[in-house]
Amino acid sequence: SNETSTFPLSFALTPSQAARAEAAREEILADPGFGKHFTDHMVSIDWTIDEGWHGAHVQPYGPLVLDPAASVLHYGQEIFEGLKAYRHADNSIWTFRPEANALRLQRSARRMALPELSVPDFIESIKQLIAVDGNWVPSAPETSLYLRPFMIANETFLGVRAAHKVGYYLIASPAGAYFAQGVAPVKIWLTTEYSRAGKGGTGAAKCGGNYASSLTAQVEAYENGCAQVLFLDSETHTNVEELGGMNVFFVHKDGTLVTPKLTGTILEGITRESVIALAKDRGLTVEERTVPLAEWQEGVASGQITEVFACGTAAVITPIGQLMGANGLSVGNPDAPAGELTMSLRKELTDIQYGRLPDRHGWMVRL
Ligand code: PMP
Repeated sequence: SNETSTFPLSFALTPSQAARAEAAREEILADPGFGKHFTDHMVSIDWTIDEGWHGAHVQPYGPLVLDPAASVLHYGQEIFEGLKAYRHADNSIWTFRPEANALRLQRSARRMALPELSVPDFIESIKQLIAVDGNWVPSAPETSLYLRPFMIANETFLGVRAAHKVGYYLIASPAGAYFAQGVAPVKIWLTTEYSRAGKGGTGAAKCGGNYASSLTAQVEAYENGCAQVLFLDSETHTNVEELGGMNVFFVHKDGTLVTPKLTGTILEGITRESVIALAKDRGLTVEERTVPLAEWQEGVASGQITEVFACGTAAVITPIGQLMGANGLSVGNPDAPAGELTMSLRKELTDIQYGRLPDRHGWMVRL
């Protein structure tokens, strides 16, 4: 029940006494990598079944105190999001479609029996963190501040049921350019042994368990020199679903874009939806439908499919050079240059995100 929540939430601020000095921060921002360094503050909001959402707080970044019996540690009742803050040339700071992330967090919450945080409270949590940690948004090309909202069941209780006590948190981590050496096509590993999601399961939710269960296949991918795993549908093992952390698109020789339709087992990527919108703006046909693996193999061999790319918040749009798998499966040429449409959509999307192109869809929100 959310009845006793005040809406919108008001945020208290406890400034960090250990905030890094400018020189230390600039040293980190010069080479941040990904997910290794964190800003000086974080947001926390508490939820209980009796009080609803309350206690919104911007506080010093630091460890959470969890009882060893906290239910998240046992049953994995956890969801998260991922989005970025971008610094524009005039030094203003923006984020991309945060309401879409807020709505996806709500859908994930419903699936995982967690409470929903309102869209305005979600966006306000980001604004509040940027208000104190905005100087952690880097300015070099293609860099950003990665924002990681997440929600955990932190009730001290070993019974298996939806928790009566939950925490929402927001942390932020500066991110370097994903392709520092220029955008290069990646190799993808097809797993035939493992599935990511089944009908009625949690595939469309952004919950930690989905990622935990993808790691064995990812180890296999790394062992075979590949960057990510391609998962097929769990029912027939014949149709392309998505990568471990990205959606996938095929460019046909007439310019048509094809991507697996949302079946409830695929994560509804915000980059995916944005690519579809940009392609339609160009007058291109976009087909969201079942994509048999055989269509990929035959299409690349015949020249019907001219480009394949993956997309997601972290790497934006990444050309896929080759699909590899057991028994010598190999589709595509890893040495071929990145596709033209792939790179032009990538440029258009990043130009919007970094304020170099007008935001005609109203996707950008100033922080
Ligand atoms: N699929 C999966 C499984 C993911 O984890 C992600 C990253 N959130 C995506 C697709 C891409 O989603 P988005 O474009 O919203 O980052």
